[in-house]
Amino acid sequence: MNERYLLMIPGPIEFDLAVLRAMAVKTPSHIAPEFIEAFGEVLERLREVFLTSSGQPFVVAGSGTLAMDMAAANLVETGDKALVINTGYFSDRFAAILERYGAQVSQVRAELGDVPPLEEVEEALRQDDFKLMAITHVDTSTGVVADVKALAELAQRYGALSIVDGVCATAGEECRQEEWGIDVYLTASQKAIGVPPGLALLVASPGAIEAFKRRRAPVVNYYADWANWLPIMEAYEARRPSYFATPPVNLIYALKESLAQILAEGMEARFQRHRIISDAFKAALSALGLRQVPLDSAKAAHTMTAIYYPEGVDRTLLAEIKANGVVVAGGLHPAIKDKYFRVGHMGAVSPGDILATVGAIEKALAAFGYELELGEGLSAAQRMLVGLG
Ligand code: PMP
Repeated sequence: MNERYLLMIPGPIEFDLAVLRAMAVKTPSHIAPEFIEAFGEVLERLREVFLTSSGQPFVVAGSGTLAMDMAAANLVETGDKALVINTGYFSDRFAAILERYGAQVSQVRAELGDVPPLEEVEEALRQDDFKLMAITHVDTSTGVVADVKALAELAQRYGALSIVDGVCATAGEECRQEEWGIDVYLTASQKAIGVPPGLALLVASPGAIEAFKRRRAPVVNYYADWANWLPIMEAYEARRPSYFATPPVNLIYALKESLAQILAEGMEARFQRHRIISDAFKAALSALGLRQVPLDSAKAAHTMTAIYYPEGVDRTLLAEIKANGVVVAGGLHPAIKDKYFRVGHMGAVSPGDILATVGAIEKALAAFGYELELGEGLSAAQRMLVGLG
């Protein structure tokens, strides 16, 4: 394959060149005034992207799993009760992390491709006294989006902290941390935030910070401990030098550029662009007769799509799509791993990227002898993309 391929997996995504260029600087000291200024701006911009004025951002070297680990390590004490709203592979991971820190985990599980009904969640909350509720905003294994607004509202009503894994959602899928009352919204850099892998990003509400400060026992994970990071984040924001563990200096420059781009687009416009692009892609798949993993279109994410292979087609389709210049991802959910594939469409994704992806899929399906009218998916997508710049 030549080098001109489009990376359309659910992260890492295609990165904007200005973001990549922002990293290509001589690395300054982590306490150099220009770097302190950049880090301070990053923290301020993160609040705007997460739509909160009162949250405490944490930017730490690591991946999304570290952000999950950090939320659990700081908020869970042995014996605390946690409720996991399970929509797939990454909810399973959250349950495992919470248990590792001593939580007694209960789960409300959805059928594959679905989200648990709110009544079931409320029933679970009524049954026990949960300290926190963990939600996967978009489960990358199923392409299902949880109703975070309603779930966070329920958590609040029953006195539980809400922790939302936004790794496959933040800055693409609509989320309003403060208005919706989310206590921890966490993500990683490599998806809709649009920065190469390597940053765990997390914003904690004043309530979450208070809960952390009320802990009886110290946090057992040394690197993840907010007691180590809180003074550092406060210092950078106050434009003062500080040190706990060396920050990934060049990635912070990339994040500063990416957050500036996100805010220049505007959060409302960004959510809307993700919706339109997702609708166009999904319309193309329906026109081609392909079925998606989410059982109901209202529960399908706007940052990615999970698609079943049609009858007679298997995962070798992915190589054919790749030969057409587009890289998509295989299945992840253990129950259906070889039966479906996944396409990411988030961050700087454009209408042109979606058309290229639909074209590559159509052509690959045709090569497999799947009956279709070439261009049918493309025209369905085009009709929905009209008007999007
Ligand atoms: N949660 C979700 C929803 C994810 O999609 C991922 C990564 N695919 C993770 C958590 C873990 O993130 P990372 O691979 O960056 O550790």
